[in-house]
Parts: sequence; structure tokens; C-alpha cells
Amino acid sequence: MRVLVVEDERKIADFVTKGLRESGFVVEACHRGDDALTRISNEPFDALVLDVMLPGRDGLDVLREIRRGGRDIPVVLLTARGGLEDRIGGLNAGADDYLPKPFYMEELVARLHAVIRRRDGRAASLLRVGTLVLDLPAREARVGEEAIELTAREFNLLELLARSPGRVFTRTMLYEQIWEYDFDPSTNLVDVYVRRLRAKIDSPGQPSMIETVRGVGYRMRK
Ligand code: CA
Repeated sequence: MRVLVVEDERKIADFVTKGLRESGFVVEACHRGDDALTRISNEPFDALVLDVMLPGRDGLDVLREIRRGGRDIPVVLLTARGGLEDRIGGLNAGADDYLPKPFYMEELVARLHAVIRRRDGRAASLLRVGTLVLDLPAREARVGEEAIELTAREFNLLELLARSPGRVFTRTMLYEQIWEYDFDPSTNLVDVYVRRLRAKIDSPGQPSMIETVRGVGYRMRK
């Protein structure tokens, strides 16, 4: 787990960095809000520990900018004790949690684990390819805001393709995984289902989300 700590007070930054390392996190630290934004756009982090009071751009400003860019990296905000406005502002700006100073290291570690788990849960239950979103536990599909009605087989086929965008599936692979019997070369069931899916998920005038790979099979457009 890679965490970026953003805190201008060196003593606190060092304390947090050391404590998180001892708990098994890989930790980087920076001291300014604008530096934090640069680091986050260029490097992969699993979570962010973000102080509110920062030079450059303050923590809430940084957080808003991250969310505006559509990134859902988990963020734990460090707020001043009794800073009710910071806390409310922080949650409104898209913080996953906040921790008033001073705090115990154990508590920061526990909250970091919790927000990372929550994010993983969200990520695992929703499958997104472009504008297509599959809610796996609910078995619901939508394109943009529009809900798409799918039969169980159609959903399974779409899920299989959408789990690996760009990967080519032969008709045999699709048939055996979705229908679970030996492939009968005379059947055109796969083509029939792909046609039905296209009619439901594609937008008029746009290339199909499910590409035909001539002589081989199909793949989900990336
Ligand atoms: Ca500070």
C-alpha cells in the first residue's frame, strides 16, 4: 500500500511517515498542496493523508481538485482540533474520513485501512468500460445514465467481455463459458447474443462497443 502524506509541519510529517512505515505502508511525503497534486497525477498512490492547513493550495482545495478530476483515491484529512468547519468542508469536498489533531498513530492506521477497504469494495462491485457500467452484485447494467434490461445470459456474456477489454474471445471460448456445454460448431448462438447486446448497449451512429475480430471472435472495445 502506497500512501502520500501531505503536511507542511515537518515534525508531524516525520511522525506520520515513520508511524505508517512501521505499520507496513510505503510512504512518500510532500509539504505543499500544489506538489501533492503533481505527485498524484504522476504516481500511483493507494491513499492520501492530507493536512487542511497547507501553503500553496490548502488541503480542501487540493481535495476538490482531485475529485473534479474524477479520481477516487481514498483521502483521510487531518484537521485542527475542534475545526468543525474544516471537517464539514472536508466531507463536502470528498474526504473519505477525517482525523482531528492530535491523534494516535493507531487511529490513523485503522482509518487508512478502512478507507482503502471501502474503496476496494466499491471498485470490485462496479465494472466500468467507457460509458458502460455493470453493477455486479445487483446484476444491473447501464450506459451513461440509462438502465439497460438484460437477460441472465446476456449479462453474463457482457460481463465476461467487459472484464477484459481489448482481449479477443473466440466463439468457442464464449460459448463454453456462458453456455457451459461443448461447443457445437453449427450453432450461431454467440453471434445471436452479441447482436442482441449490441442492439441494447450501442448508441446510434457510434462504433459498436463489442468489436468483431474477423475470423476469430469478439472483443470489448477499450
Ligand atoms: Ca499544516
